[in-house]
Parts: sequence; structure tokens; C-alpha cells
Amino acid sequence: MSISVPSLLMAFIVMSATLVFPVALVPLRRHPELRLWAWALGVNTLAYVLFVLRGQVNDLLSVVLANVTQALALALFYRGICHFQKRQPSRWITVAPLLLIGASFPFLLDQLPARVMLACSVYALQSLACVVILVRRRAQTAGRGQYLLIVGFALATLVSLLRVGAAVGGQMELLAILLTSPLQIMTPLLMIVALILFGTGLALMVHERNESRLARQRRLLERKNRLLQQYSAKLEAANHRLTELSITDGLTSLGNRRHFDQVLRTEWERARRSGKSLALLLIDIDCFKDYNDCYGHQAGDDCLVQVAAALRANLGRRGDLAARYGGEEFVVVAVDADLEQAHQLAQVICQAVAARALAHVRSPYGQVTASIGVAALVPSVDLAGAPELLVRRADAALYRAKAEGRNCVRLCDSMSAGQLVPS
Ligand code: GH3
Ligand code: MG
Ligand code: MG
Repeated sequence: MSISVPSLLMAFIVMSATLVFPVALVPLRRHPELRLWAWALGVNTLAYVLFVLRGQVNDLLSVVLANVTQALALALFYRGICHFQKRQPSRWITVAPLLLIGASFPFLLDQLPARVMLACSVYALQSLACVVILVRRRAQTAGRGQYLLIVGFALATLVSLLRVGAAVGGQMELLAILLTSPLQIMTPLLMIVALILFGTGLALMVHERNESRLARQRRLLERKNRLLQQYSAKLEAANHRLTELSITDGLTSLGNRRHFDQVLRTEWERARRSGKSLALLLIDIDCFKDYNDCYGHQAGDDCLVQVAAALRANLGRRGDLAARYGGEEFVVVAVDADLEQAHQLAQVICQAVAARALAHVRSPYGQVTASIGVAALVPSVDLAGAPELLVRRADAALYRAKAEGRNCVRLCDSMSAGQLVPS
């Protein structure tokens, strides 16, 4: 099989020119290093076009300009890699080859070995510089595209060194660019392989970098999302706690007055809609001012906590609410309870307070007791929005309990809403 060097060179030129387009067509603004590499491939194509025109155009073009252009192509590759790696390119590696070849070649037009030695040494160093910076940053660079480039530039270094070797050995017939010699066949063949590695390597490197950035951003997003969920859970818990606090009495941990007002309104409306009875117990500690005077305010507070505990312990039904109405007065909202049921509950609470056996020397009973007023009614349409009526009735019953000796339960009955029937 006979291989013609000019045909190989033409194939190389066509490949190099073709590669410019896919590399250049990738969005340029997002990947400036690809713009540099597209220029490098374009300039590389031009260099080989000039090489091929040896003898047909002026030597200044096919020798001097062609070699300067070749050095420029390698310098652009080098700068592209530096840009990719976000490092400052060396001015020496970029500019010195161009100056050296541009300044010396016009004087070496008749000295092929010297030209080959000089130019190929420069190309070898430029390619080697690309290999070195790629190898040094390989750990920080994502993916395998970089290894294709490393091999490609190693091949380019090898080709240049082979040509330097041939020049040093004085094998002139191996060097003439358009003569078919083993070295001249191998050069474009290896350069074609290197070109394929450059093209695929560059595209792969950019793609892999984008992939790894995306993966990093995804991980970051997931972490932020997790943090956000944690914050949100904490916030929800804090909100819940805040809501609890806003409806809880600080001393006794029962519902506070605000909570009682809300619950009473809600239950009133519910009972009005369902036609069921709603009951209210107003509980007042007897002779509590004396208790404070006798045992001190702190003991008074402890006593309030004890009475609250007795209340809480005897509220068995779901939906019933015990709250601190104010001072030493408590209230129980008993839902779906008629007067009889509310009466029984009040008796139980009254006994439970006494059963705590908290000494109270200034009480006629010698211990802490409570009086309870009970009211129950079925809210009717004409009483809508008037839950205070229930409180007033329970208060009236409590007043009677106080008047009739304390430590007892008194009822305020109404068979139909609006009527007040004391027991
Ligand atoms: P009665 O048997 O008629 O209900 O007499 P009382 O002394 O219990 O009623 P009075 O309204 O005269 O006194 C209530 C006392 O409750 C007065 C006040 O100092 C005390 N008190 C109100 N809130 C608190 C509190 O949070 N802690 C303490 N230690 N005492 C309180
Ligand atoms: Mg009172
Ligand atoms: Mg009292």
C-alpha cells in the first residue's frame, strides 16, 4: 500500500478545519476556553495549508509564516488550557516561541536542518508545557477528557522530538515536508490521532466540568433544602409552643382567660347548632385573701397550683376545658353536659379540692376549700352570640354558694335558654 504524504496532510487539514466548527459552535460566552481552542484549531489548519503550499508560494509564507502560525496554534491551545484551569498563562510560553521563530526563520530559509531543529524543539516544549499543566492539575480537574488531551499533546511532543532527532542525525531526506518518507508518513498520521484526541478531549473536558458543577450544585441544593426543612420544623415547633404559651396560664398551666373566652364562644356556637346542652362551672377558692395573709403569697401560688391540679385530675371527658378565670377563680366548660352531669362534676371537684387537705387555719373548715357555681343551658337562636349569659348565671350560682356557707356547689338552672331557674 502506497501512502502519499500530501494526501495525509490534506486529510489532516480537512479534519482540523472541520473540528473548528463543533468547538466554535458551543456557546462561546459560557466557555471562553473553547473559543481559544477553536482559534487554535483554525490557526493550526492555516499552518498546514501553508506547509502544503511549499514551493508554490513565497517561502516567507510557506516557511516563516507557516511555522509562526504553528507556534501560535500551540500557544492558543496552551492559553485555552490555562483558561480552563483558571490559571494565569505564562507570557514566555505564549509569546517567546512566536518571537523566536518569527525573528530567526527569515535568516534560515536555506538551512532546513537548523529550521527543523529550532521549530520542532520549540513545538516540543510548547506541547510538553501543555502536558505538564494538564498533569499537575489532573486531581482538581473532573473527568477523563483531560487524559485524552494529555495523550494528544504527548504525541505532538513525540512527533516534534522525532523530527529534531532526524535533523540532529542529518537525515535530510526524512525531513522535507512533502517527500514520502517513513517519518513524513508517521508525522501526519500521529498528528491526525492527536487531533482526534484534542477534539474529543476538549469537548469531554468542558462537558465533564459542567456535569461536576451541576452535581455540586445539586448537592448544595439538597443540603440547603435539608437545612430549610430543619428550620421549618423548628419554626413550626416554636410556633406551636408560642401558640400554647399564648393560651396557657403561666402559674397553673391550665388554659388562660383568653383561651377560655375563645373556647366558650366556639362551644356555644357548636351547642347552638347541635341543640345540645352546654355547662359552665365557676370555681372560687374560699377565704383565699386570708390564706395569702396567713401563709404568704408564695404559699398562695402553690395553693393555686394544687387546686388547678385537682381540677385537671377530675376532667375526664374529651372537649372539656379547665381554665384560670382570674385571681383565685377557675372555670370549667363542660361540653354536651346537662345541669345534672355538670352538678356531679362540680361535686367531684369540690371534694377533690378539699381532699388535698391544704391547711388553712383562717377558714371555717380548717383547710382550703372551693365554692362552685354551675349553670347549663341549650343555646337557642335568639341567644346566639351571648355566651356571657352562661358566665353570668354560673356567677350568680357561685354568689349563692358563697352566701350559703362556702365549700359547696350551687346550681342555676334554665330549662329553656333565657329562663333562669335557680335550684
Ligand atoms: P371568698 O371566700 O369570698 O372568695 O374570699 P376571698 O378572700 O377568696 O376573695 P377575695 O376576692 O377577697 O380575695 C381574693 C384574693 O386572691 C385576693 C388576692 O390577693 C388573691 N390572689 C389573686 N390572684 C392571686 C395570685 O395569682 N396569687 C396569689 N398568691 N394570690 C392571688
Ligand atoms: Mg374571687
Ligand atoms: Mg375567693
